[in-house]
Amino acid sequence: MEYNPDVHSLKCPKCGHGMEEVSYGGVTIDRCTHCQGLWFDTGEADQLKDKWMGDALDSGSSSDGKKWDKVEDIACPRCGKDMEKTSDSLQKHIWYETCSEHGMFMDAGEFTDYKHETLADRFRSLVKGGR
Ligand SMILES: [Zn+2]
Ligand SMILES: [Zn+2]
Repeated sequence: MEYNPDVHSLKCPKCGHGMEEVSYGGVTIDRCTHCQGLWFDTGEADQLKDKWMGDALDSGSSSDGKKWDKVEDIACPRCGKDMEKTSDSLQKHIWYETCSEHGMFMDAGEFTDYKHETLADRFRSLVKGGR
């Protein structure tokens, strides 16, 4: 859907279409109506990750996300500054864009990876801890 400030909360930094607010587990994030990318204000991603509830929000497929991942140099939808491409320190295959002041943008599918890996890592550490 084309970005319309009356309807959408943010303009997608990746594809330029409108983003809409979706809330889950008491956390509100923004999801693109076109590429399904996700915007998290500072702190929101951590809250969701901890609750392991991202599935309901991340409706995009990983293959679509890979396609949009090739779009480089996106600007923060809040302040318009160039965002920094960052990889998760524990999960190097997951890349996302961050604005140090406002939050982070993830392509469709990446958040699901993020959450599942975290869950698996915790499980492994539990197993290890039991011995
Ligand atoms: Zn988009
Ligand atoms: Zn910003």
